Amino acid sequence: MRQGIILLELGILLMVGLFSGCVGGNKGKDAWDFAKLREKMVEQQIERRGIKDKSVLKAMRTVERHRFVPEAQQSSAYNDYPLPIGEGQTISQPYIVALMTQLLALDKKDTVLEVGTGSGYQAAVLAELAKEVYTIEIIEPLGKSAQIRLKDLNYDNVEVRIGDGYAGWPEHAPFDGIIVTCACPSAPKPLVEQLAEGGRMVIPIGGSLSYQMMTLFEKRDGLLHKKEISGCVFVPLLGPHGWQTERGD
Ligand code: SAM
Repeated sequence: MRQGIILLELGILLMVGLFSGCVGGNKGKDAWDFAKLREKMVEQQIERRGIKDKSVLKAMRTVERHRFVPEAQQSSAYNDYPLPIGEGQTISQPYIVALMTQLLALDKKDTVLEVGTGSGYQAAVLAELAKEVYTIEIIEPLGKSAQIRLKDLNYDNVEVRIGDGYAGWPEHAPFDGIIVTCACPSAPKPLVEQLAEGGRMVIPIGGSLSYQMMTLFEKRDGLLHKKEISGCVFVPLLGPHGWQTERGD
């Protein structure tokens, strides 16, 4: 089963590579009408699948996803699948970004924590909706380039830290929203502690390349209420608290 999923993922990445090559990659990227592609992405992949929150739809229409992917992938930036961003990591499928963002139910007063900065795209979407975004990336080159990209794009309400997001960012807690964009064996205790009363945390729970469940936790009266949203596939949480340690492989 696990082997099958790995082969499927490799197949998708290979197809993406071939497809990017076919449509020109770097060459002629100026000819692409990114604004039109973005509108089509929102209508066909996001609205049609039931995302209704107007502020989320506006953010997805605003953030220029093609600026967050490697140049060779730009022509595929608005397609309906995740894309490789280097270091063996991915930028999530647009619909998944919209779904997780909607689940957080943010407003302009909110402070949000993201674990797994990657390209910085999800952080930029959150920055359109919240007051402050704190995002942590464990792979230094990814974190550094996301930091530069977000600064160049004037996302002044986003702060990037390089480190293990398992521990959260206690100096800026409590958080009204926490989003984890890599699969965790279970909800990390420090993140649960750093979630504000009335706050929401969305996190994929499950093993690496095996079954994962996108899960929403809400803290009410100091208690954590859990709701399972849907099956999903995310890259695993890295570091000592990641799935490798827990499973012993
Ligand atoms: N949100 C990202 C974006 O918009 O491009 C996509 C994130 S990618 C699916 C998951 C990211 O989580 C990877 O960049 C990976 O390096 C990072 N990651 C994995 N384990 C981590 C950890 N313990 N702390 C922080 N980041 C971690």
